Amino acid sequence: PTDAGMEQLHSLIRDVADWPKPGIVFKDITPLLADPRGLALAVEMMANPFRGQGIELVVGAESRGFIFGTAIAQALSAGFVPIRKPNKLPRETHQLTYDLEYGQDTLEIHADAIAKGQRVLMVDDLLATGGTMKACCDLIDRLGGEIAGVTVLIELDFLKGRQKLKPYDSVHAVLTY
Ligand code: AMP
Repeated sequence: PTDAGMEQLHSLIRDVADWPKPGIVFKDITPLLADPRGLALAVEMMANPFRGQGIELVVGAESRGFIFGTAIAQALSAGFVPIRKPNKLPRETHQLTYDLEYGQDTLEIHADAIAKGQRVLMVDDLLATGGTMKACCDLIDRLGGEIAGVTVLIELDFLKGRQKLKPYDSVHAVLTY
């Protein structure tokens, strides 16, 4: 991508100070989603390193992982599997509870969503502490999927989320702060 393209992506992400809590700078991606060229460029840049890698399924967590995940799945001619908050998926699920900075969160995936050995690309909008992505990867591991890579639009470098994802050698971020 050109410098102008990267510049455009940066300009379409809005910093919102002290949201949802004091001290947090929230990266609002809605201006990027609303911009036809910005959205296309973001999806292309998240998907490109994984072209030709035999990705069969893209997995994304509710809610912003759905937005980029389905678009990237289409770009890679792969299917999409959702990871959801508890009690949303109708059939048998695997569930994982993980620690947040304050408290805990739980995520679920359909037990039969992934066949053993299927090549999976994990997607989210943003990698912060890495807790969410690690939990998602653990669910895929449990189902026997093979994690071929992780791709995010934004990485908050200073939170060191990448360290939690050490077992996975291909962690790709388009924009790093
Ligand atoms: P973490 O589990 O700490 O890596 O947090 C990642 C999840 O929380 C992602 O699904 C993000 O959408 C959301 N998130 C965390 N921090 C921010 C932030 N500063 N701006 C926007 N979203 C965030």
